[in-house]
Amino acid sequence: MRYKSTRGQVSDISFSQAVMMGLATDGGLLIPDEIPEVDAKTLKRWSRLTYPELAFNVMRLFIDDIPEEDLKGLIDRAYSTFSHPEIVPIVKKGELHIMELFHGPTLAFKDVALQFLGNLFEYLLERRSEKMNILGATSGDTGSAAIYGVKGRKNMAIFILHPHKRVSYIQELQMTTVTDPNVFNLAIEGTFDDCQNIVKEIFGDLEFKERYKLGAVNSINWARVLAQVVYYVWAVLKFEEPIRVCVPTGNFGNIFAGFIAKRMTGKIERLILATNENDILYRFVNFGDYSISSVVPTISPSMDIQIASNFERYLYYLFNEDAQKVAETMLKFKKTGRITFTGEEIEKVKKDFLSGYATQSDTLNTIKRFFDETGYILDPHTAVGVKVALELKGDFTTVCLATAHPAKFPDAVKKAIGREPEKPKAIKELEGREKRLTVLPADTERVKRFIEEHAI
Ligand SMILES: *Cc1c(COP(=O)(O)O)cnc(C)c1O
Repeated sequence: MRYKSTRGQVSDISFSQAVMMGLATDGGLLIPDEIPEVDAKTLKRWSRLTYPELAFNVMRLFIDDIPEEDLKGLIDRAYSTFSHPEIVPIVKKGELHIMELFHGPTLAFKDVALQFLGNLFEYLLERRSEKMNILGATSGDTGSAAIYGVKGRKNMAIFILHPHKRVSYIQELQMTTVTDPNVFNLAIEGTFDDCQNIVKEIFGDLEFKERYKLGAVNSINWARVLAQVVYYVWAVLKFEEPIRVCVPTGNFGNIFAGFIAKRMTGKIERLILATNENDILYRFVNFGDYSISSVVPTISPSMDIQIASNFERYLYYLFNEDAQKVAETMLKFKKTGRITFTGEEIEKVKKDFLSGYATQSDTLNTIKRFFDETGYILDPHTAVGVKVALELKGDFTTVCLATAHPAKFPDAVKKAIGREPEKPKAIKELEGREKRLTVLPADTERVKRFIEEHAI
């Protein structure tokens, strides 16, 4: 399989090149030349596989420059860190099927992709005799999954900036108890915006970026999308009939993987896109209005976005693979903060997606109601999905993605049901452990100096 950019100026590159490039050099996103279709007979055969075996079979359709035995090893090691034998079990609760994507080391679905990506980077760096320093900013939740993806790996170091004393107890615990020598937690005396601006400025210094081989592990990397395609296929295989899949959505990365799986298998009737009050994608699906407004902080913080970084990939398919049109549209969007769509385009979108949103009180009510009715505790992100899924499932068998373990968000859960969820072993183990972090002022030069001293 060869890869190309949604903006048309990069083409005919290999999977490994696409992974190392991250963002396409023309400013677009990388996508495969085609989306392979999987026939009914193959699906039937796949339905007997374990999760890692399925991952290998799905990924191999997109990867032809890594020997099969090596790819198998990368996948097996990635999912050996999960605490559940089925990796992503599906449980029936009330009228819904919940696919638990939170059994990885940091208890959120990002582990499914980042455990694989960390292994893959290590493998590719070794093969190319290269090194990489990962740099990123986190408001709390995604940093830990990135750190667990990279910790202890050869030829890689990771620098994660978080706002000092402004992340939750559990987020801080998960990040700062990782004491591997290649992990650097930088607690910045400032806000999350300060952290993001520092990272942006450092990436903007191209000479510095090149000298220290700075890289990112953000959700635009094609390998992350690919690792996520697997669990949609896993869900499809559990049912005879076509299903709907409901996805608590932020950056459109997870649900875009669902779109690929829908095309591959033909067995996902619709994807249900659930947002919180940050509803740009809800407005897109229902009204063809993709326009930025300011970000509202909510109790489902990992969905608090306005610009969905993976959206451009879907635009490419919506525009019938017209890269020129994607490039023009994205440039216009950068200037005006808005994309509008024709009636015909909206019709097409509605063949792939349904969409609804949940306010914060909807979210708390859903946690309470679902707990009362089923005894099952939802985290606030999953609760957004469940609220919308119950509204839009129709008569279809519906699988809701559970994107985080409720114990990661004890305050919201307590507010909803009057008590905190039980702490899983993965959290209890961390309490009382040695912590390692470096407090720095919100000053780009100071952060650069730290990287100079500690980069590999
Ligand atoms: C990242 C995240 C999301 C949003 O996923 P996207 O791929 O950004 O759409 C939802 N829930 C949780 C818990 C997350 O960490």
